[in-house]
Amino acid sequence: MSDGKPADVDRTEGSGPADSADLTDEEWRDRLTDEQYRVLRESGTEARFSGEFVDHEADGTYRCAACGTVLFDSATKYESGCGWPAFYAAEDGSVTKTLDTSHGMRRTEVRCANCDSHLGHVFDDGPEPTGKRFCINSVAMAFDDDA
Ligand SMILES: [Zn+2]
Repeated sequence: MSDGKPADVDRTEGSGPADSADLTDEEWRDRLTDEQYRVLRESGTEARFSGEFVDHEADGTYRCAACGTVLFDSATKYESGCGWPAFYAAEDGSVTKTLDTSHGMRRTEVRCANCDSHLGHVFDDGPEPTGKRFCINSVAMAFDDDA
Protein backbone atom coordinates (compact mmCIF):
# COMPACT_ATOMS: atom_id res chain seq x y z
CA MET A 1 0.00 0.00 0.00
CA SER A 2 2.91 2.40 -0.42
CA ASP A 3 2.87 3.07 -4.14
CA GLY A 4 3.16 6.81 -3.67
CA LYS A 5 -0.24 7.69 -5.03
CA PRO A 6 -1.97 10.54 -3.26
CA ALA A 7 -5.05 9.73 -1.30
CA ASP A 8 -8.38 10.42 -2.92
CA VAL A 9 -9.22 14.05 -2.41
CA ASP A 10 -12.68 14.93 -1.20
CA ARG A 11 -14.05 17.07 -3.98
CA THR A 12 -17.45 17.82 -2.52
CA GLU A 13 -16.69 21.51 -2.10
CA GLY A 14 -18.03 23.19 -5.23
CA SER A 15 -15.55 21.79 -7.73
CA GLY A 16 -17.91 20.37 -10.30
CA PRO A 17 -16.87 19.38 -13.78
CA ALA A 18 -18.85 22.00 -15.66
CA ASP A 19 -16.89 24.62 -17.54
CA SER A 20 -19.03 27.38 -16.07
CA ALA A 21 -17.09 27.18 -12.81
CA ASP A 22 -14.07 28.71 -14.54
CA LEU A 23 -15.71 31.53 -16.47
CA THR A 24 -14.08 34.92 -16.27
CA ASP A 25 -15.95 37.95 -15.06
CA GLU A 26 -16.34 39.13 -18.65
CA GLU A 27 -17.75 35.79 -19.77
CA TRP A 28 -20.28 35.92 -16.95
CA ARG A 29 -21.37 39.38 -18.07
CA ASP A 30 -21.88 38.09 -21.60
CA ARG A 31 -23.86 35.09 -20.45
CA LEU A 32 -26.14 36.76 -17.90
CA THR A 33 -28.54 39.68 -17.95
CA ASP A 34 -27.54 42.72 -15.91
CA GLU A 35 -29.95 41.77 -13.14
CA GLN A 36 -28.79 38.15 -13.12
CA TYR A 37 -25.18 39.29 -12.97
CA ARG A 38 -25.90 41.61 -10.07
CA VAL A 39 -27.60 38.85 -8.06
CA LEU A 40 -25.59 35.76 -9.03
CA ARG A 41 -22.10 37.21 -9.22
CA GLU A 42 -22.33 40.22 -6.89
CA SER A 43 -24.60 38.67 -4.25
CA GLY A 44 -27.38 41.15 -4.97
CA THR A 45 -31.02 40.77 -4.03
CA GLU A 46 -34.02 41.38 -6.25
CA ALA A 47 -36.82 43.57 -4.93
CA ARG A 48 -39.47 41.86 -2.82
CA PHE A 49 -42.42 40.43 -4.76
CA SER A 50 -40.73 41.46 -8.02
CA GLY A 51 -39.51 38.04 -9.14
CA GLU A 52 -41.30 35.94 -11.71
CA PHE A 53 -41.31 32.83 -9.47
CA VAL A 54 -42.71 34.32 -6.25
CA ASP A 55 -46.22 33.04 -6.95
CA HIS A 56 -45.19 30.42 -9.47
CA GLU A 57 -46.96 27.14 -8.75
CA ALA A 58 -46.28 24.91 -11.76
CA ASP A 59 -44.81 21.44 -11.26
CA GLY A 60 -41.23 21.10 -12.36
CA THR A 61 -37.65 21.79 -11.36
CA TYR A 62 -35.77 24.98 -10.67
CA ARG A 63 -32.23 25.21 -12.03
CA CYS A 64 -29.33 27.54 -11.46
CA ALA A 65 -29.72 30.35 -14.01
CA ALA A 66 -25.96 30.52 -14.41
CA CYS A 67 -24.99 26.88 -14.99
CA GLY A 68 -28.18 24.80 -15.20
CA THR A 69 -27.63 22.66 -12.09
CA VAL A 70 -30.94 21.39 -10.67
CA LEU A 71 -31.45 23.15 -7.33
CA PHE A 72 -35.04 22.76 -6.15
CA ASP A 73 -38.08 20.63 -6.89
CA SER A 74 -41.41 22.45 -7.12
CA ALA A 75 -42.77 19.95 -4.57
CA THR A 76 -40.69 21.71 -1.90
CA LYS A 77 -41.85 25.21 -2.86
CA TYR A 78 -44.30 26.86 -0.49
CA GLU A 79 -45.95 30.19 0.15
CA SER A 80 -43.80 31.92 2.77
CA GLY A 81 -45.10 35.45 2.28
CA CYS A 82 -41.52 36.75 2.37
CA GLY A 83 -41.61 38.16 -1.17
CA TRP A 84 -39.18 35.71 -2.76
CA PRO A 85 -39.61 32.14 -3.90
CA ALA A 86 -39.27 29.87 -0.85
CA PHE A 87 -38.42 26.18 -0.63
CA TYR A 88 -38.08 23.94 2.41
CA ALA A 89 -35.37 21.75 0.87
CA ALA A 90 -32.68 21.87 -1.82
CA GLU A 91 -31.62 18.96 -4.01
CA ASP A 92 -28.88 16.92 -2.35
CA GLY A 93 -25.46 18.46 -2.89
CA SER A 94 -26.75 21.22 -5.16
CA VAL A 95 -26.02 24.17 -2.88
CA THR A 96 -23.40 25.32 -0.40
CA LYS A 97 -24.16 27.27 2.76
CA THR A 98 -21.84 29.83 4.30
CA LEU A 99 -22.18 32.37 7.07
CA ASP A 100 -22.87 35.85 5.73
CA THR A 101 -22.36 38.73 8.16
CA SER A 102 -22.89 41.55 5.65
CA HIS A 103 -25.44 44.32 6.26
CA GLY A 104 -25.06 43.87 10.03
CA MET A 105 -26.93 40.56 10.00
CA ARG A 106 -25.96 36.97 10.59
CA ARG A 107 -27.46 35.03 7.75
CA THR A 108 -26.62 31.82 5.95
CA GLU A 109 -25.87 32.47 2.31
CA VAL A 110 -26.86 29.85 -0.28
CA ARG A 111 -24.71 29.39 -3.37
CA CYS A 112 -24.79 26.98 -6.29
CA ALA A 113 -22.41 24.14 -5.45
CA ASN A 114 -21.37 23.84 -9.08
CA CYS A 115 -20.62 27.39 -10.20
CA ASP A 116 -20.53 29.21 -6.82
CA SER A 117 -23.13 31.76 -7.90
CA HIS A 118 -25.12 33.51 -5.18
CA LEU A 119 -28.73 32.28 -4.99
CA GLY A 120 -30.17 33.67 -1.76
CA HIS A 121 -30.25 32.78 1.93
CA VAL A 122 -31.59 29.98 4.12
CA PHE A 123 -33.38 30.54 7.43
CA ASP A 124 -34.54 28.25 10.23
CA ASP A 125 -38.20 29.28 10.20
CA GLY A 126 -39.45 26.99 7.44
CA PRO A 127 -42.15 24.31 7.59
CA GLU A 128 -41.83 20.60 8.28
CA PRO A 129 -40.19 18.29 7.45
CA THR A 130 -36.95 20.30 7.37
CA GLY A 131 -37.79 23.51 9.23
CA LYS A 132 -35.77 25.38 6.62
CA ARG A 133 -36.75 28.32 4.44
CA PHE A 134 -34.60 28.68 1.36
CA CYS A 135 -35.31 32.24 0.26
CA ILE A 136 -34.07 32.39 -3.33
CA ASN A 137 -33.98 35.15 -5.94
CA SER A 138 -36.14 34.42 -8.99
CA VAL A 139 -33.53 35.74 -11.39
CA ALA A 140 -31.03 33.24 -10.00
CA MET A 141 -33.16 30.38 -11.29
CA ALA A 142 -34.53 28.95 -14.52
CA PHE A 143 -37.63 26.75 -14.47
CA ASP A 144 -38.24 23.46 -16.28
CA ASP A 145 -41.82 22.27 -16.58
CA ASP A 146 -42.44 18.62 -15.89
CA ALA A 147 -42.83 17.13 -19.34
ZN1 LIG B 1 -24.75 27.27 -10.85
